[in-house]
Amino acid sequence: MPTNRIIAHVDMDSFFVSCERLVDPSLTGKPVVVGGRRGERGVVASASYESRKFGVKSGMPIMTAEKLCPKAIFIPGNHRLYSKYSRKVYALLRRVAPVVEYASIDEFYLDFTGCEDLYGHDLEVMAKKVQESIFKRTKLTCSVAIATNKYVAKIAGKTVKPSSGSKTGIVVVPAGEEQSFLANLPIERLHGAGEKTQPRLKEMRIIRIGDIVPMPLVKLQKAFGPSAGSWLYEAARGMGSDEVHPFHYAKSIGHETTFEKDTDNPEQIHQTLAWLSEKGCYRLRRIGKRARTVTLKLRYDDFQTITRAKTIPETNDDVAVMKTAYELFQESHVRKRKIRLLGVSLSKFEAGEEVEWLFPEMSSKKKDALYQSVDAIKRRYGFHKLEKAASLDPKEADREGKGGASSFQKPKIK
Ligand SMILES: [Mg+2]
Repeated sequence: MPTNRIIAHVDMDSFFVSCERLVDPSLTGKPVVVGGRRGERGVVASASYESRKFGVKSGMPIMTAEKLCPKAIFIPGNHRLYSKYSRKVYALLRRVAPVVEYASIDEFYLDFTGCEDLYGHDLEVMAKKVQESIFKRTKLTCSVAIATNKYVAKIAGKTVKPSSGSKTGIVVVPAGEEQSFLANLPIERLHGAGEKTQPRLKEMRIIRIGDIVPMPLVKLQKAFGPSAGSWLYEAARGMGSDEVHPFHYAKSIGHETTFEKDTDNPEQIHQTLAWLSEKGCYRLRRIGKRARTVTLKLRYDDFQTITRAKTIPETNDDVAVMKTAYELFQESHVRKRKIRLLGVSLSKFEAGEEVEWLFPEMSSKKKDALYQSVDAIKRRYGFHKLEKAASLDPKEADREGKGGASSFQKPKIK
């Protein structure tokens, strides 16, 4: 039997709002919504617990948040500030635990396996230590959840947020109790079961995570498909990865933008897709990766959202990605409605060694060299200086995207 690992999930409490409050303490105790100014079309990136009481949630349009909580203070967001604090927390955690994974701007996984002696084999003491040192350094609060794998730790963390009435923000799920810990949690807590799966689970009268456990694997696979079915089977049993990656490996790179005005202008759509593809490829090349999957996200003016993906030979070539994104768009855009949002993301990364170019007119070596010099110029002068004609003047389409939640990227941490 392999020994159980000790994995901690650290999740900052309403991170963006908390950072804003450090800068402007008068915001403390008030309902605060980060993501856009009053009357803007962005989405909520972070909401303080005071505004969540009124039903405000991340991801909802700013205008809806305004209706739910008219007294809220609306802040556009300051990504540089959040990155600064995120880096501070990350740097500190790297001194606290032997292995730290940067999971997102406000979430980290720590592997404490082998450190038990340091904390007198008391995992709660360990968690408290982490919390205290973060608070001492940044004055920010967080939840710390300890379990034998990342998945259970992540779900457990959500149960000790200030909004759930937890006083400590600390939870420990002992080895062997993963399944029973999850069993009583409402099915909404099953992280990873999204927009499609949740309603289907409800239809099947699954209310708590534990309700999945008695269901045979074949039945789950029949209802949800082979891979989602087996994922549900394992997730409900509290199985998950215990590999904490010491560096931040992005799993996907993507950009999306909300149009200032809903549009059906083919030229604007084409330019936006080209620009989103270029942005993604630029970032891919910076981390020396190529992607195999291109995903398009399309949201209509009535909020119906379609995502569609395609696998292509691995690439970080603007033209190849742009072409795929446009094909995906043509396949997905079947309604006669205006479009509110477009997004292009790249995933299934492979290290950039061998390349199969979709456009073989130039050798890949030559193309790499070309991109290296193009990217050097982009880095020097900012992104907009050098772009293909097809994506000229994307600012028109992106004005809101810049301030909105969609432009909150993870900071690069070396
Ligand atoms: Mg958080």
